[in-house]
Amino acid sequence: MAMSLVSLSSSSSRAMALCSIFCPRIPLRFRPKPISPILSKPQICLSYRVYSSLQSTTPSTKDELGIVSIGFLGMGIMGSPMAQNLIKAGCDVTVWNRTKSKCDPLVGLGAKYKSSPEEVTATCDLTFAMLADPESAIDVACGKNGAVFGISSGKGYVDVSTVDAASSILISKQIKDTGALFLEAPVSGSKKPAEDGQLIFLTAGDKPLYDKAAPFLDIMGKSRFYLGEVGNGAAMKLVVNMIMGSMMASFAEGILLSQKVGLDPNVLVEVVSQGAINAPMYSLKGPSMIESVYPTAFPLKHQQKDMRLALGLAESVSQSTPIAAAANELYKVAKSYGLSDEDFSAVIEALKAAKSRD
Ligand code: NAP
Repeated sequence: MAMSLVSLSSSSSRAMALCSIFCPRIPLRFRPKPISPILSKPQICLSYRVYSSLQSTTPSTKDELGIVSIGFLGMGIMGSPMAQNLIKAGCDVTVWNRTKSKCDPLVGLGAKYKSSPEEVTATCDLTFAMLADPESAIDVACGKNGAVFGISSGKGYVDVSTVDAASSILISKQIKDTGALFLEAPVSGSKKPAEDGQLIFLTAGDKPLYDKAAPFLDIMGKSRFYLGEVGNGAAMKLVVNMIMGSMMASFAEGILLSQKVGLDPNVLVEVVSQGAINAPMYSLKGPSMIESVYPTAFPLKHQQKDMRLALGLAESVSQSTPIAAAANELYKVAKSYGLSDEDFSAVIEALKAAKSRD
């Protein structure tokens, strides 16, 4: 699929022209005043493609969007701040989580609570799901008291979990058999971008639902890509995270090597940050990795899940991915050392353990 990316700046008239074509905006008279800082975030997008868009604006009435109530399933590291941003933006949000106590802070902010995914989809026009892995995403959508039993024609289901294409297609079929619409929309970005409403949505599926969900995606994110058929969003997300997982493993090796040859790893992080291989991830995670602390933003178990799923994707088309395969082994070792719930940067511990056994 061709990806014509065009750099934009907020002052560019070309950007403004593209915006008005691809990001239809709700007429001024319908726009509510921003009620939270999230809605005041700068209208700037760094990359762009057809069907990719800047955030639009907060939806307000059913007349405008045909959507008044939002469901949110899964109150983990990502789901909680995403739902919170919808609530702060004035949306009518109903939440559910397997561990009920994680819903309490959201209810404290004004969310309603329902005791099953089925009850959420029965009472909401549009439901988002942010679950751990393929198994939980399928179970919450299609299992006992699952979302499919409450959803119906005229409603929408947007799965923002990171899963493989086959699982997403399965969920899509079950949802669409009820007459409802389905969109997969895994996110790029971690805990902080989720809190700041700066996620990147990689969507695919029913275009009419993409259009209706767009204002809500824009509350939670800074950009969105529409990639066509269900499975394309999942595949894009897995490729991105395969790259990220390999980058982190390589970075961990570099930190340890610099230390072993007597260099200051903090200087290494600084040097990397000023050169062509700079990535925000290195500056963000490097200092804590050097201190051997791993505050969890992206759990290591989810990074290993994404490596495993990406390797399966590569296998399905006979694409060689030796670097990702090697990195995956490191994440598996880290998991075996009990680091599953630490941040994925704890993969460095797998290399230290190997060293200590030399
Ligand atoms: P998390 O904190 O581990 O949350 C996982 C959520 O899934 C929790 O709500 C959990 O419920 C629920 N869950 C797990 N197993 C379940 C089951 N069998 N039945 C029902 N619910 C179940 O993970 P997260 O970091 O928010 O990530 C969620 C998804 O986003 C994952 O697919 C991850 O790969 C992806 N993602 C994460 C990040 C990140 O930086 N964290 C970034 C991009 C994408 P309980 O509270 O009851 O355990």
